[in-house]
Amino acid sequence: MDVEPRASEPLGGPPVDRDEASAGFFDAAADGRLAVRRCVTGDRLFAPEVARCPRCGAATEWITVSGRGRLVTWAVVHRSPHPALAEVVPYVTAVVELAEGPWLRTRLAVDDASSLAPGLPVAVAFVRPSDGESVPYFVLEHAR
Ligand SMILES: [Zn+2]
Repeated sequence: MDVEPRASEPLGGPPVDRDEASAGFFDAAADGRLAVRRCVTGDRLFAPEVARCPRCGAATEWITVSGRGRLVTWAVVHRSPHPALAEVVPYVTAVVELAEGPWLRTRLAVDDASSLAPGLPVAVAFVRPSDGESVPYFVLEHAR
């Protein structure tokens, strides 16, 4: 992957903690990789929070994807939902369709949200806070 993990980006928010179900996701993020789930009985890919294949009920395993995708939709958050986010509003939350298919709910770092449009190419980046887990977010391809 040619997107270099960044030392620190002002995403804000409380520290993110892993649990057993998310460990593979955050292990990948710490390594600068974006992970999604794949059904162990086939090739179907799903969002990271999908623990069991909704098609056949089998378990899923972590698989690294390209980190590239397209913007599906987004919202500009003006009122902080958490005190730790008060200094970063307004910010953009988005749904990204990965090149491999799954949709991801994520943060999108963008200077001018009025320039956003469905279908814009986006790429993953990673924030590595001093406290808590590394977390993927997305940037516009042309902004890199
Ligand atoms: Zn399946």
